[in-house]
Amino acid sequence: LRAQRDWAARQPLERAEALRAFAARVRELAPELCRIDAEDCGIPIRTMEAEVRTGASYLDYFAGLVLELKGQTIPATVGNLHYTVREPFGVVGRIIPYNHPVMFACEKIAAPLAAGNAVVLKPAEQTPLSALRLAALALEVLPPGLVSVLTGDGQTTGAAIVAHPAIQRLAFTGGVATGQEVLRASAASLKEVSLELGGKNPMIVFPDAAVDAAAEAAVTGMNFQISAGQSCGSNSRILVHRDLYEPFLERFLARVRAIRLGPAVDPQTEMGPLITDTHRDRVCGYIRSATEEGARLLSGGSVPQDRAGYFVEPTVFDRVSPGMRIAEEEIFGPVVTLFAWDHVDEMLQLANGVRYGLTANIWTNDLRQGHRVAAALEVGYVWVNGNGRHYVGTPFGGYKASGIGREESIDELFSYTRVKTVNVILE
Ligand code: NAD
Repeated sequence: LRAQRDWAARQPLERAEALRAFAARVRELAPELCRIDAEDCGIPIRTMEAEVRTGASYLDYFAGLVLELKGQTIPATVGNLHYTVREPFGVVGRIIPYNHPVMFACEKIAAPLAAGNAVVLKPAEQTPLSALRLAALALEVLPPGLVSVLTGDGQTTGAAIVAHPAIQRLAFTGGVATGQEVLRASAASLKEVSLELGGKNPMIVFPDAAVDAAAEAAVTGMNFQISAGQSCGSNSRILVHRDLYEPFLERFLARVRAIRLGPAVDPQTEMGPLITDTHRDRVCGYIRSATEEGARLLSGGSVPQDRAGYFVEPTVFDRVSPGMRIAEEEIFGPVVTLFAWDHVDEMLQLANGVRYGLTANIWTNDLRQGHRVAAALEVGYVWVNGNGRHYVGTPFGGYKASGIGREESIDELFSYTRVKTVNVILE
C-alpha cells in the first residue's frame, strides 16, 4: 500500500515513462524469458518471441493512455460545479492461468499500474517462473513493492488473495468453475471482480469463402502451434457449409497432419506437449467419450508412444451432434470438432448453442452476410475473414459463461479506477 501511494502521487507521465522502461527491459530479456516459458510451459520456442513482444506492447499501450484517465464535468445545476475524477483502487489482485505465462504476466499488470495501482500477481502453480523473473526485473525500474508476485496453488495463495480485505479490485483469468468460485468468495469483501473465462469458439465457413485461406486459418486459429490448443480463444468448433465441406476437410486435414510435434525448446517444433499428465488424461477422456458417443475420428486421437512428455496428437472429429460432451464442453487441448450445415438459421443455433460466448470467426466474401452473422452471434470478439490475432486497443472479453468485463483496451484501464463525484456549491 505504501508503494502504491507513492506511485499514485507521481506525475502520470512519469508513471508512463517507468512502464515504458519496464517494457524495454522485458524486450531486452526476451531470449531468457522465451527459454523459461518453453521449458516451464511447453510453448514452442519459435512462437515465444511473439508472446514476449505482445506482453511488452501492452505495457507501452497502457503507458500511452495515462492522460486519458479523465473525469467529466456535469451540468447538473446552474451556478455550481459538478465533476468526476478517476482514482485508483489501491492494490489490485490478478490471478492468471498457465497457458501464456509471460505474456499474461506483462499484459495483465499493465493497465492496473498505469491507473496508479499496485498489483499482486498470482501466476499459475504449473508455470510460475517467468512471472518471478519479471518480478525481479520490475525491481530495476519500478518502486519496490509495487509489483508483488505470489506463487502457490489456487486453494491457498489464490484463495488468500480473493479473501484479502485490502484488495478491492480483482481480475481473474481461468476456468469457468474457478471463476464462479472466485466470484462467490469475493462477495465477503465486496470486491469489484472481472472474469476472463473459457471458450468453445465457432469458426463459421460460408460456401463463398476462400477455401485455402479458411483451412489454413482453421489450423492457426486452433492454436495448435502456440499452446497445443490450450487457449481460451481457440476455434475448437468448425462449422462449414455443406457445399464446401469436402474440399475444406481435405485441406484442413492435410495441414493438421503436417504439424510437427516435439520438445518445446527445439526450434523445429511446431506443437509442444500439454501442461501436465492430469490434463493430458482429461483431454484423452474427451477423445474417448467422443468415440463412444458416435463421433467420427478423422485424425489423431492418440498419445504418441515414441515421445516423452504429455503429448496428445492433433485430433479432428466430425459427425458430432449437439449434446455430445465434445460438442459442448471446453476441452482446452488439441481437439477440434467439425460440423456441416445447410441453412444460416441452423448454423447460428449451433454456434450460439453452448454456454460459452468468447470469440467467433466468420469466413465469407459477402460482407453483408459477415456483418449480419457478427451481429447475431452471442460472443464478445468476432473476426470476419481473420482469426486468432488480438488487436491492441480492441476490447476483449466474453458473453455468457465466458466472462465479465473487457480487457486489452481503454475499457480495461478505466476498470482499474473508481469514479468519485465532487459537487462544489458556489451559490
Ligand atoms: P484454473 O481456473 O484452474 O486456474 C487459473 C488460476 O486460478 C490459477 O492461477 C490457479 O491457481 C487459480 N485458482 C484456482 N483455484 C482458485 C481459487 N479457489 N481461488 C483463487 N484462485 C484460484 O485455469 P487453468 O487451468 O490454469 O487455465 C485454463 C482456463 O483458463 C481455461 O478455461 C481457459 O479458457 C481460461 N482462459 C481464459 C482466458 C480469457 O482471456 N478469457 C485466457 C486464458 C485462459
